[in-house]
Amino acid sequence: MKFEEFKYGLPTKNFIIKKGNFLIEKLKNASSFEEANKAFKSFEKYKSKIYTLFTNVSVHFTLDVRNETYVKNNDKMNELSPICAEINTRFNEILVKSKFRKELEEKYGSYLFKMLELSLKTFKPEIMEDIVKEGNLVNEYTKTMSSLTIEYKGKKYSLSMAGKFLESLDREERKTVGKAIHEKVLEVKDKVEDIYDQLVILRDGMAKKLGFKNYVELGYANMGRTDYTSKEVALYRQQILESVTPLCKKLERARRKRIGISSPYFYDNAITYKDGNPKVKGEEKVLVAEAEKMYKKLSKDTGEFFVFLQENHLLDLTAREGKSGGGYMTYFPDYQCPFIFSNFNGTSGDVDVLTHEFGHAFQAYCSKKIKPSAYQSPTMESCEIHSMSMEFLAYPYMDAFFDNSKKYRFAHLTDAIMFLPYGVAVDEFQHFVYENPNCGVKARDEKWLEIQKKYQPYLSNKGSELLESGARWIRQHHIFQSPFYYIDYTLAQVCAFQFFNWDVKNHEKTWKRYVKLCKLGGKYPFQELINKVHLKNPFVSGTVKKTIRPLVKYLKENTID
Ligand code: ZN
Repeated sequence: MKFEEFKYGLPTKNFIIKKGNFLIEKLKNASSFEEANKAFKSFEKYKSKIYTLFTNVSVHFTLDVRNETYVKNNDKMNELSPICAEINTRFNEILVKSKFRKELEEKYGSYLFKMLELSLKTFKPEIMEDIVKEGNLVNEYTKTMSSLTIEYKGKKYSLSMAGKFLESLDREERKTVGKAIHEKVLEVKDKVEDIYDQLVILRDGMAKKLGFKNYVELGYANMGRTDYTSKEVALYRQQILESVTPLCKKLERARRKRIGISSPYFYDNAITYKDGNPKVKGEEKVLVAEAEKMYKKLSKDTGEFFVFLQENHLLDLTAREGKSGGGYMTYFPDYQCPFIFSNFNGTSGDVDVLTHEFGHAFQAYCSKKIKPSAYQSPTMESCEIHSMSMEFLAYPYMDAFFDNSKKYRFAHLTDAIMFLPYGVAVDEFQHFVYENPNCGVKARDEKWLEIQKKYQPYLSNKGSELLESGARWIRQHHIFQSPFYYIDYTLAQVCAFQFFNWDVKNHEKTWKRYVKLCKLGGKYPFQELINKVHLKNPFVSGTVKKTIRPLVKYLKENTID
């Protein structure tokens, strides 16, 4: 079935409530394991049907945000979502207390019930109003930040569009645009920090209403973390500080030498090479054709899957008017197929979509037969392993995509390493924030500066009032939108590095392990999952150091002066 043949429309409110309540009653009144299991299976089908329709409404909205029907349906879906969530909660409450739980656990495994119990702890009707308030505050932040524009050479740019000038080889241009961007953000600093202050106090209140000590615990529960706590995460951050920060210091020193600026200003921070970044070889058509060749060479499965995506029109890649920003992979459960959305703009990011989002899509495709649906996709730190590892597994094929693939690989790997200290800084900052919810705005900025100095002592804030004030963090939308998510990217990165190190030595074996991981879906929590494919656990002392060592060697052998 092709994408345009997928059913478009919403289930009625009446259907959602009536059918949902009917299945809840069935489960409640089940007099045997068979009956309880039947209700569970029917509820899975019911959820899958609704979710598939919701996904299509949401995808269409992002394909053309100007289309009135798409907008109307998207709004309507946002009204229906809380109703579905409420029904889902009631069903799960009965499921975990079912007198047939033992048999159900034998059939589906205890991890399912652990996940359900954790998610039930994150909700009580008393916090319903707070959830709405939280959503509104986050929206206000998003609106404030995305409405910021600057003017340059008579043209208006959104801040993310203007970001490309920070890679310009003309230092004056970087300075002018860089300053304009930071001054713009500075204008809304007070407003945005006040929004965050309200968010923090609100979230702290929600945590306490639910019986948690503070929002750190609720934040972890919201991320579905059943197998580690903030204690393990703190020790992991320490490993990054000890093993990665010193390496980044060296990499930064080498970068300064390479670009010929010994004392950089903040607007010099995005430059990797004196003569510019590697250029991509073409537009969507060219890149997709090359990607097809690459995935056919990589394995029979990836080749077939990439052709399947194209034939069924499941790739919408190039930027065009009316499309919303960014890129994502989503999944249609009833049709058992993924969909990739992005905004190609002629930079190396286009190639990253074809590898990163394809990695996500390939995992979804590999896990499509897994039941129950809760086991199809793991928690976020595991999900990003599939995508980030694919970026590295594609390294040998980069000649086809770039005029200078050696430069691309060097910059990509360097960026990936340099990301780790920043990623854990964002995480440590959030722990401070939610452990000290009433510390006030000024103390937060001071703390950010302190944490940044600790993890990224080499980073230059010079020339930016915004950065020197300690408010860099207000531009990281995850801090507002998705508390405690950020560390997941770094945990996945450490695992993806291991796939890369293996791949350099033995491609066959590495590929088999990668496919095995994709096929395991979300059957296990993070640490058990990575253990199944022999990845070293980032939480175990020494793992980061051992993982980084071969990367240093690779960079030395493939260095670019
Ligand atoms: Zn991703």
